[in-house]
Amino acid sequence: MTDRILVLGGTTEARQLAGKLAAKYEVTLSLAGRTRDPVPQGVPVRVGGFGGVEGLAAYLRDNRIKLLIDGTHPYAANISANAAQAAQLTGVPAIALRRPPWEQNPGDRWTLVGNATEAAALLGTTPRKIFLALGRQELAPFEAAPQHAYLIRSVDPVEPPLAVPHATYIPARGPFSEVDDCALLKAHGIDVIVAKNSGGDATYGKIAAARQLGIEVFLIRRPSLPDLPSGADVEEVLRLADHVLTPGPGPEKRGV
Ligand code: NAP
Repeated sequence: MTDRILVLGGTTEARQLAGKLAAKYEVTLSLAGRTRDPVPQGVPVRVGGFGGVEGLAAYLRDNRIKLLIDGTHPYAANISANAAQAAQLTGVPAIALRRPPWEQNPGDRWTLVGNATEAAALLGTTPRKIFLALGRQELAPFEAAPQHAYLIRSVDPVEPPLAVPHATYIPARGPFSEVDDCALLKAHGIDVIVAKNSGGDATYGKIAAARQLGIEVFLIRRPSLPDLPSGADVEEVLRLADHVLTPGPGPEKRGV
């Protein structure tokens, strides 16, 4: 029987990884269900939470999963912690795709903040034009700073809209280029960007554009994640998966 793999997804890399693994293994990709109309994933998908560590552990057992891969976003810390604990509970090996963070370059005007609430407080009292490059769930703290004008880009509509007098919404799905983000920031006269250090190319456009235009960026610090064997990209994780599921010959087979 082909080995079964569960990939916890929600990122482009998880989708790509699942697609490549499917050539050799039986793969299921798990989505939280945050996006109403996710792009086709190309492999069997299950949607929705498992019900915490116990729920995920039960899923691993019931479905005879041989390898768990955490391919979630670097800020999805709860599911990553659950994955590590469920793997420990069940003895199912777990590995992760950990996208490296962006590094600060000369010209970057970054301020690191702990979370969206801290960012909202640090924006100050003088009205400014803010680009919120955050998930819909992280926007509420900015209602405490209604003096600013907000530009909000999200895949799905922000419902209900933010309770602030000045907010503009742009529905869009990445990737976003530096050229396009530069044009966007200029068109809206943006002074500050609030973003996560997501890493990767798909959302780096705004960071490069901010550098070019001398715009301040409030970057939310990454949460700490469990220490699993990990790769930084799809190819590295593919090799790790093969290594876990197809171990090399044991000492006796090597005649040691
Ligand atoms: P989170 O805080 O770590 O997760 C909250 C809960 O959502 C988890 O405890 C789990 O519920 C459920 N969950 C999360 N990811 C799941 C998955 N892949 N499959 C099944 N259940 C999942 O994460 P979040 O901030 O809600 O993020 C949710 C998803 O969005 C993740 O898959 C993440 O990769 C993705 N995301 C994408 C981006 C992006 O920019 N592409 C940004 C942030 C998040 P139970 O405890 O009930 O199992």
